[in-house]
Amino acid sequence: RLLGDVIPPSDIGVTFDDIGALENVKDTLKELVMLPLQRPELFCKGQLTKPCKGILLFGPPGTGKTMLAKAVATEAGANFINISMSSITSKWFGEGEKYVKAVFSLASKIAPSVIFVDEVDSMLGRRENPGEHEAMRKMKNEFMVNWDGLRTKDTERVLVLAATNRPFDLDEAVIRRLPRRLMVNLPDAANRAKILRVILAKEDLSPGVDLDSVASMTDGYSGSDLKNLCVTAAHRPIREILEKEKKDREAALAEGRPPPALSGSADIR
Ligand code: ATP
Repeated sequence: RLLGDVIPPSDIGVTFDDIGALENVKDTLKELVMLPLQRPELFCKGQLTKPCKGILLFGPPGTGKTMLAKAVATEAGANFINISMSSITSKWFGEGEKYVKAVFSLASKIAPSVIFVDEVDSMLGRRENPGEHEAMRKMKNEFMVNWDGLRTKDTERVLVLAATNRPFDLDEAVIRRLPRRLMVNLPDAANRAKILRVILAKEDLSPGVDLDSVASMTDGYSGSDLKNLCVTAAHRPIREILEKEKKDREAALAEGRPPPALSGSADIR
């Protein structure tokens, strides 16, 4: 049941080059995460350089947190294990504790690995929540115990990367275990232009397209919003072609002519 949540590094399909802007976050992640995963021997000499077991990525929705976590795993050659409340409720309902134990045990076996906890606030939110279900409390405890039990031996290079839009809803005990917290913020105009360039890198753009001016008109857009904007723009010429074909057919009908031949399959007529 768990294997479906594991992506081997060669299949993740996201590298740091696919992420526009966010240079500071990418650099910090490279230093904090990838190097210890790849060269653990450099980091076990003193207490201060011990590889950290947890990093929190926080910021508004759609700013690239999941992409960053995937890129870290790809570039470190680590397996990516995506865990979330939705996985527990859909596949492991009532078995959260078992699920968490299985995740950590598998992560150690297939190390190096990155356990990515998306929407960590919904899984490891404040403990004092009065209506909290006993099973949920047990699951959280299990998570902490396994997390603390991770050893940094070469064979057990496991990192927990957590993401949230609501850092203030996190349990104190969780925050303590995530000593490095990186803010992933909405991009400014210069960074929106960089993101647009990355998203459109492989597209055939009309010569007149001015990405800097698109960037200056999209204040408040996240990377995800910019991606959606590009997808919508890319569909526009297709819509225009279909509308023109429809008009030509209507004109032909009105004049009693046979309809003009379509360039595509006869099925869409
Ligand atoms: P949420 O908080 O809603 O889970 P998130 O911060 O994890 O969002 P992602 O899922 O990483 O955001 O991003 C969603 C999509 O937006 C990505 O698949 C990608 O297409 C696009 N995107 C976001 N940020 C960037 C970026 N910096 N560069 C390129 N594409 C981006």
